[in-house]
Formats: sequence, C-alpha cells, structure tokens
Amino acid sequence: MNLDTLTIAQARKDLDAKKYSALDLTHAYLEQIAKKDGEIHSYLEVWADSAREEAKAADAMITAGKQQPLTGIPIAVKDNILIDGRIASSASKMLENYRASYDATVIAKLKAQGAVFLGRANMDEFAMGGSTENSAYGPTKNPRDTSRVPGGSSGGSAAAVAANLALGALGSDTGGSIRQPAALTGIVGLKPTYGAVSRYGLMAMGSSLDQIGTLGKTTEDAHILFDAIQGYDANDSTSFPEPSAERKMRKVIGIPRTFLKEGSDADILAQFEETLDGLKAVGYTVRDIELPNIGYSLAAYYIIMPAEASTNLARYDGIRYGLSFDGKTVEEVNAKSRGVGFGPEVRRRILVGTFVLSAGYADAYYRKARSVRELIRADFSRAFESVDAIALPTSPVPAFTIGEKSDPLAMYAADIFTVPVNLAGVPAISIPSGTVERDGKKLPVGFQLVAAHGNESALFAIGKDVEAYNLRS
Ligand code: GLN
Repeated sequence: MNLDTLTIAQARKDLDAKKYSALDLTHAYLEQIAKKDGEIHSYLEVWADSAREEAKAADAMITAGKQQPLTGIPIAVKDNILIDGRIASSASKMLENYRASYDATVIAKLKAQGAVFLGRANMDEFAMGGSTENSAYGPTKNPRDTSRVPGGSSGGSAAAVAANLALGALGSDTGGSIRQPAALTGIVGLKPTYGAVSRYGLMAMGSSLDQIGTLGKTTEDAHILFDAIQGYDANDSTSFPEPSAERKMRKVIGIPRTFLKEGSDADILAQFEETLDGLKAVGYTVRDIELPNIGYSLAAYYIIMPAEASTNLARYDGIRYGLSFDGKTVEEVNAKSRGVGFGPEVRRRILVGTFVLSAGYADAYYRKARSVRELIRADFSRAFESVDAIALPTSPVPAFTIGEKSDPLAMYAADIFTVPVNLAGVPAISIPSGTVERDGKKLPVGFQLVAAHGNESALFAIGKDVEAYNLRS
C-alpha cells in the first residue's frame, strides 16, 4: 500500500478484497507515526495497543462480511471529543489528567462501524486559535513546510492526515477550525450544517457556533466520514430531527466580490479566480452576489464566541474537573486553578466574554452582535434562493511561520472568510486548489464552498468537480 495516495475509499476496497488486513493498515500508520510525528507533533497521545485490538476486531467483521464504510479505517480524533476512559484535555493544562466518562455520539457511531482510533490530535487550547500554537503542549508543525503552522484549531487533525499519520480525522469548527487547517495543509475539511452532527461529547466553546466535522484527503473521504457521524441525536437538543431533502443543482455559484479584497494576499485571490475559471470550464455559471452585512462577521464573531466561551468555561472551577489548587476559600481555589490551568488566549477570551455580557455592556455589545448575526443569516438565506453555493477563499493567507502572528488581532483577522459561515449555521467545505509560493516553497491554497442549510450534497458535488478539474490542469 502507498500511504501517500491511499484514501478511505480506496482502503475500503482493498480491505474488502483482502489485499491487506486492517491490522496491516494500522501497523503501517503506527510505523509512520513513530517515524514522523516526533517532528510534526500532530498527536498528543497515540493508542497503539488499543488500535491494534480495534484493527483485529475490524478484520473479524470483514471476514464475517459485516463491514461498514469505516471498518478498519485508522483515524485521529481531536482532543476535545470524548472517548470513554481516555484522557481528553482540549490541549489544556486544566484537563491534563481528565478522563472522559462516556463516548461522544460521533465516537459511539464510529465504534459501531469498527473504525480504528490511532490517538488524540493536538489543537489550540479549548479550540481557541488558528495556528495550534495555543496548545499547552507545544505547537504542531505543517507537514508541507515544518517552519510553518498547520493552521488551527484542529491543526493536529489536519497535519495527521496531510502527513499520512491517519487516513482521516475528526475536528471541530467554531469559526473555521476545520476548514482553515485543511486549507493550510492541503487537504479537505468539512464543517457540516449546525445540528447535522451531534455535539454530545464535544467540549463546548461557543455552543451556538460549534460543529464537529471531518478531514480527509479527498471530498469523497470527508463525505464518507460525514455520513458515518451525522444524524439526529436525542442527547443534543440542537440536532436536526429530519435530514433535509436534496435540492436540485442549478450549477450556479455566487461570489460576494466586494468582500473578497479584505486583507487577502494577491496571489491567493489570483488562485481563487483560477479555480472559478476551472468551474466555468466544466459548465458552472459564476455570478457576483451581495451579502450586505458579511463585513461585520468578524466583529460579531469575536463578541459572540468569547461570550459563549466565558460561560462554557465557568465549569472549570478547580473543583469539578481536572486541575485543582488548594486554597482557604472557594474563590481562592477558583482563581489559582484557573490562573494556572488556562493559557493566555483562553484567559483573554474569558475576560472579553465576561465584559461583553456584563450589566451595562450586554446591550451595547452582546445583543447588538446577536442582531447583526441575524442580518448575516438572512443575507445567506436570500443568496441561496438564486445560487447553489457561495465560493470564497478559505484563508486570506497561506500557512504562516511559527511565531509570525504574535498579535492576537492579526490572528483573528485571518478568520475573515470562515466565521460568517458559523454565524449563519450553514455548511461549508475547503478543497485544496493550487498553490502559492513563499520562501521558495509551494504552499497549498484552500477553495471554500458554502451551501444552504442542510445542503451538504451540493458541497460534495461541486467539490468533486473542483478536484476533477485540478487533476486535469
Ligand atoms: N480561529 C477561530 C478562533 O480562534 C476559530 C476557532 C474554531 O473554529 N474553533 O476563534
């Protein structure tokens, strides 16, 4: 087997044809991890023994003819998704020794299919960040250029797939944390519709924005993983009761052109236009559209997300979970544990969040941001009356060097094209399309497609056309 070109779809065929066993496949990945992950640091922990056992169980399923799409497929899981009995730390000191007491719904679904769990993937602490530099356990490096970040916050998940240290991965996306690292490492990342995948067992950051999603080498792989984890879950009250009906494709793509120029590198925009030309060449109509309020997305996001995160993270009080310091009063236990347990970015967001929610400011900031969010949501709904998908670059810049964006605002600005999607709750995918050059290295560029609520199928269909065109050119 050649791990460089192997996909989930291909491995399924090979496993079913008994070209190699699930145990062989798992061994191959464990070997790669042993060889390469010392440098990349995509994993916080590798579960070699249990992965082998899971692979053997998968082989038995295949022999019995009971295989499912992910039986025997080795994957990585972001460190904020719970697996019963395993440490889940959200890459934070606060939860260094915290063990999950149940399976997240997505994990239960993958276990039922006989997937193999290779380990937990590094991330920005509590999913706050866009570079994986905020991990309390050191950064992950970008496999395409190890002096650069892999993006974040699901940087470990993306780097694992890009470096052939996993065949696929789960991540979470609150404002771009699946799509942006996928773009920066040259793989596919899917953020499903809010509610399409259960969040039960995902550590909450911004609950109205968070969504578990999938990373793979191809659109097909991201799709296979999505099919395995999506669906209604009574344990998540925001999960969809019914799958939405498939819509008819008109092959029309909308471009919010006035929004594109904001802070984008010129060669990223040129690459974006080239991909659009490719889509036109295979029969798509590309049309300019207006999303009048999309320019306020970053501002609204960086109020709503910290507000929700500050309340979600109140549970880490030094008493109920994880790290705990002794003190004479409850307040002292609280302050010491939180002061030591949380890194600088997490503390910054808790401060911003409590400020925008505090009496006297909530109307001016939090409620205003919520109103703006409704306008953005309405802009998207209106646009989807006349287009199948909206295209945007995933990131305005390619992978930056480790340490380059030390100013938090510069880091936030790079989320400009991904956060509107979470505010609107719609699905989006990032597909590798072309490269740009920095310091003599070719760095991958992500092409982002956004579709209407529940219309993931449009993303998969157009995504495959982007990939087919890329192969030709
Ligand atoms: N980069 C964004 C942030 O720091 C997105 C994070 C995410 O999606 N988890 O908020």
